[in-house]
Amino acid sequence: MPSRSNRALTPASGRASVHFVRSYTVASSPTKFATIDESPRTQKQIAFGRDLSGAALNAHGELRYDWKKDEIDAIYHSPIMDLLYHGSNVHRLHFDPLAVQQCTLLSIKTGGCSEDCKYCPQSSSYSTSVKAQKLLDTDVVLSAARAAKEAGSTRFCMGAAWRDLAGRKSNFKKIVGFVKEIRAMDMEVCCTLGMLNDDQAAQLKDAGLTAYNHNLDTSREYYPKIITTRSYDERLETISKVREAGISVCSGGIIGLGETDVDRVGMLHTLSTMPQHPESVPVNALLAVEGTPLEKQEPVKVWDMVRMIATARIVMPKTMIRLSAGRVRFTQPEQALCFMAGANSIFTGDKLLTTPNNEFNSDQQMFQTLGLVPKAASFKVDLAEESHHHHSSECCGSKHA
Ligand code: SF4
Repeated sequence: MPSRSNRALTPASGRASVHFVRSYTVASSPTKFATIDESPRTQKQIAFGRDLSGAALNAHGELRYDWKKDEIDAIYHSPIMDLLYHGSNVHRLHFDPLAVQQCTLLSIKTGGCSEDCKYCPQSSSYSTSVKAQKLLDTDVVLSAARAAKEAGSTRFCMGAAWRDLAGRKSNFKKIVGFVKEIRAMDMEVCCTLGMLNDDQAAQLKDAGLTAYNHNLDTSREYYPKIITTRSYDERLETISKVREAGISVCSGGIIGLGETDVDRVGMLHTLSTMPQHPESVPVNALLAVEGTPLEKQEPVKVWDMVRMIATARIVMPKTMIRLSAGRVRFTQPEQALCFMAGANSIFTGDKLLTTPNNEFNSDQQMFQTLGLVPKAASFKVDLAEESHHHHSSECCGSKHA
C-alpha cells in the first residue's frame, strides 16, 4: 500500500532540513514495510536484510509522554552506529547541533549530609576525604558566579549537601538572595538543595530560579540498593512540587552504580512519561570515590554513555541533555561521540561539587577542535508551554509496566 508521510517537522531554528520535511510516496514497497516508515534511509536498511532498529523506528522527534518500556529498551539496544545517527538527527530537529551550553556547578555547602547515597563522598555515613563545611558566604558565591559568567558559563548551579531545608531558615534566606543576584547577572540559575516543600519552591520561583535539580539517580527498582534514607516517591514528589511551582525540572541519573540495562531504561521511562519532560536531564557516569560503598565500581565505558545520551535525546527530544560527572574520564573523541549522540551541555570548572572535572583550557580547545559554539542562556519555560498533555494517576512514573 502506498503511504504518504504526514510528518512535517521543522527544526526549531527555522533552517531548512532536507531530512525531515518530507513528503515521500512509497510506490512499490511491499505492504509489510509501507506502514512502518517511508524514508529512503529506512528503505535502505530493509534492503540490507535487517529489521529496523528501535532507534530507526522511534526517532521521529515528536514530544511523546506515552513511551513504553519496550520501545525505550529497543532504542537503547539499537546498534550503536544507528543509535548515534538517529540521536543526532533528533538533536538537529530541535537544537543548533553546534551549540553546547556551559554550566558551572558550585558546592555551596559541602559534606556532612544525613542521606546515605552510596556513590556520594559527602554523605556522613562514609568516611571519605571530604570535610563538612558551612554554607559559603555571599561574596564567595557571587564572585564564583561572576567568574563562571566571564568564563562563558550561562547557567550557574548551586548544590548543598542537605536532605531537606527543614530548620535551615536563615540559610535558605541566604540562598534565595544568591538566586536573585545571580539571575540579575543574566545567567540561568539552578539549585539542588534536597527535598523542598511548596512554600520553599514558591520562594525560589519568585527569586527567579530557572531550574531545580533533583535526580532520580536510577530506576525505581534499583534505587533502594543505592539510597535507603529517602524513597523514590519522595523524589518524585519534590520533582512535582518544583514543576507545579513553575520552575523547570532538572532530573537525571548516574550510570555505573551496578545497575542493569533494564534499570537504565526504567529510569528513562520514568523521566520521559512525566507530565512534562524535564527541561534538563544530566547523564552522569559514576566517579568512584574512595571510602564510599561504590569505590570499587568499574569505570563506565563511553558506549554506555552514548547509549544513554542518544536514548534520552530520542525519547525527550527538546530536553537539554547534560554530559555531566565522569566526563573527565573521556577523551575528546569520546566526548565528541556524546555530542553527536545528542548531548548539548557540559559542566565546566575544575570541580564538580567535590570530584575532579575537565580543565577549562582543554574544554576551550575542545570547542575549537570540534567547531562547537557556546549556547546562550534561555529563560523561557519552553516545555511547560508546549505540553498540553496531562497524566492523571500515572504521572511521575508511579505506575510501572
Ligand atoms: S548525593 Fe546529595 S543527598 Fe545524597 S549523600 Fe550526597 S549530598 Fe547527600
